[in-house]
Amino acid sequence: MKDYYAVLGVSRDASPEEIKRAYRELAKKYHPDKNRGDPEAEERFKEINEAYAVLSDPQKRAEYDRRGFVEGAEAYRNVYPEDLFDLFEELFGVRLGARSRRGRGADIEIEVEVDLKTLAKGGEVKARYRRQVPCPSCGGAGGRAQVCPTCRGSGRVQSYHRTFLGTVVQESTCPHCKGTGRILIERCPTCHGRGVVQAEEEITLKIPPGIGEDQLLRVPGRGHVGPGGAGDLFVRVRTKPHPELRRDGKNLVYTLKLGLAQAALGARVEVPSLDGPVPLEVPPGTGHGEVFELEGAGLPDPGGGRPGSLLVVTELEVPKKLPAKAKKALLEYAEAMGEEAGLEGIWERVKRAFKK
Ligand SMILES: [Zn+2]
Ligand SMILES: [Zn+2]
Repeated sequence: MKDYYAVLGVSRDASPEEIKRAYRELAKKYHPDKNRGDPEAEERFKEINEAYAVLSDPQKRAEYDRRGFVEGAEAYRNVYPEDLFDLFEELFGVRLGARSRRGRGADIEIEVEVDLKTLAKGGEVKARYRRQVPCPSCGGAGGRAQVCPTCRGSGRVQSYHRTFLGTVVQESTCPHCKGTGRILIERCPTCHGRGVVQAEEEITLKIPPGIGEDQLLRVPGRGHVGPGGAGDLFVRVRTKPHPELRRDGKNLVYTLKLGLAQAALGARVEVPSLDGPVPLEVPPGTGHGEVFELEGAGLPDPGGGRPGSLLVVTELEVPKKLPAKAKKALLEYAEAMGEEAGLEGIWERVKRAFKK
């Protein structure tokens, strides 16, 4: 009786990881492509496969430990375990055989708009979305089914290939039932045999204070539901437009419109902030595009750094139409400043001078 533990060079209480590691190392070393025409290496390789097929399967390993052999274990000599396919991919960059992984459902990405107040303080936001869930009428079965006659329910079929190693048994997904092991004989009227339906979901999301624009929040297990579990939900956080404030990273930007006189003479104004209006003194002689920074009045830093600022940017408003009184005052202003201003002719100017 072969000692499989000795074949792989591991102790009897080796962990599954140790067994796998030992197998991969030996399989690499004795791989027939590296030892062409060496019958000893070929024999070793087959032994290694057989030992691994038994010891990597908890049930077979228990049986082997108990009885000292496993019924039909020799049949594994040419059955490549899935690990070996991985190993081949690693060694030669080729893929051997289709492996069916009955996968998790797909991930879903949605967007939510969060207002600035919630972004500043953190909070909860509700979002609605649709996802695939198992059909409630048939429990995901898709209807009445019978065992697939091709694979007898295993979902796998074996094909035999003659190679220099002898006959190699390769397992692949059953083409008849696509690996499910079942064939529908009567479709469920609710899901028309698909086994899944679209469900409307509502989720309450915790918004961390200051979360970045376009940042994704991951909610595990709230994506589409597949046979192997649910995918994840990714929520892209968007900043809801604010009537007065614009977000720029962790700063908030407010455009302060200034009249000509306000710019020249200065003014006491109020600017909006997330905590209500804030007084601001605009000094005389403030130009267009000047920035006043109110430190700490922006959004918090999600990384724990300094909070952002409220940036007040001035925009000089030049009136398109002037009331007569304002026009007169401005012309006088121009005269006082020695500015050549206005489009009136010399006669109008004389008239205006006499009216004074
Ligand atoms: Zn159904
Ligand atoms: Zn089948």
